Amino acid sequence: MGDCIFCRIVKGEMPSRQVFEDDRVLAFDDINPAAPVHVVVIPKVHIPTLIDVKEGEQEYLQAMMAAVPKVAKLKGIDQRGFRVVINCNQEGGQVIYHLHLHVLGGTRLGAKLG
Ligand code: AMP
Ligand code: ZN
Repeated sequence: MGDCIFCRIVKGEMPSRQVFEDDRVLAFDDINPAAPVHVVVIPKVHIPTLIDVKEGEQEYLQAMMAAVPKVAKLKGIDQRGFRVVINCNQEGGQVIYHLHLHVLGGTRLGAKLG
């Protein structure tokens, strides 16, 4: 997807502060952090939302989740704790329509989820 910001980051056409990468996913610092640690984990293929993940794409969900403890360790928040969030579609607060999860931490996060 040529006009997708996250696809452009995957292609190296847009800079990012990379935290972790493997063959399926990329993790980078959020440009507008909502917590002291705020990392976005994305699949390297364009999947618009969580609802759009097809049967043959489950490996990307697995890789995104598998990246979370690695990101947490790299950021030094694995023992202190963190939160993982996926926003889906309009009422879920999704702004960028390339599937991603947020890893949030580095402070005591509020109990309120929505
Ligand atoms: P969402 O609301 O779940 O779609 O979240 C999109 C997230 O992407 C927001 O937290 C933005 O701050 C973040 N974001 C947008 N553009 C960039 C970018 N170029 N690099 C890093 N993070 C970005
Ligand atoms: Zn994309």
